[in-house]
Amino acid sequence: MDSNPTAADFTRAVHLLREAQRTVALTGAGISTPSGVPDFRSPGTGLWERYDPMEVASLSAFRHHPQQFYEWIRPLAKHILQAEPNPAHLALARLEQAGRLVGVVTQNIDDLHSRAGSRQVLEVHGHLREATCVRCYRSCPSGQFMPAYTDSGEVPLCPECGGILKPNAVLYGEQLPYDVVRQAREWILSSDLILVIGSSLEVAPAATFPVEALNAGARLIILNREPTYLDERAEVIFRQDVAEILPQLVDEALHV
Ligand code: ZN
Repeated sequence: MDSNPTAADFTRAVHLLREAQRTVALTGAGISTPSGVPDFRSPGTGLWERYDPMEVASLSAFRHHPQQFYEWIRPLAKHILQAEPNPAHLALARLEQAGRLVGVVTQNIDDLHSRAGSRQVLEVHGHLREATCVRCYRSCPSGQFMPAYTDSGEVPLCPECGGILKPNAVLYGEQLPYDVVRQAREWILSSDLILVIGSSLEVAPAATFPVEALNAGARLIILNREPTYLDERAEVIFRQDVAEILPQLVDEALHV
């Protein structure tokens, strides 16, 4: 694998970014790994050592064994609490501020796009900023319980009724936030350029939306270490570290 993109690829991607009228970014775990947030779908991250995420992080597992779920997600929550946006997150915020990006559709729950300054962010898998009581449905900001929970590992409880708090992240087997997904689909379908960044496009439905847009004439740039099922439809593919290549592309595209 080349460690540097070819000059032709770089020039082509910059040209596409400058030419596009409606660019939408679709991001996955790979944009946050340079910030130290592990991709929990990947074996070897430590999150697979004791439990299969598909089992422990399912809605029914959470209902029956919330303490096991909270024990499993604790290292990830710690990493997310400590993580800072990296140059790739910041580059997307710059692109939006320059009026060159409709917004970011993300599969990540780590809030790093918003913290980087992006305003138009659709979190199709929810987030960890708040949790909801499974008994009284009250919403509770994570700041109220997250530090104590990551320190002690105790299951966070509702301050009002003592019910168990469920993070507002989407678990396996749980319905995605309908309005967010519908909006994400609209953005992608009306885009003329899609940037896939740090996603192997394995998680539906966000991963399937680009196909419809591509069939309607949109262009595609992929920045991802691993192959995706849409590689053959991409104009340009970058396998390099997204925290290095994306800022370079954005700076060049915005430099007139
Ligand atoms: Zn409650």
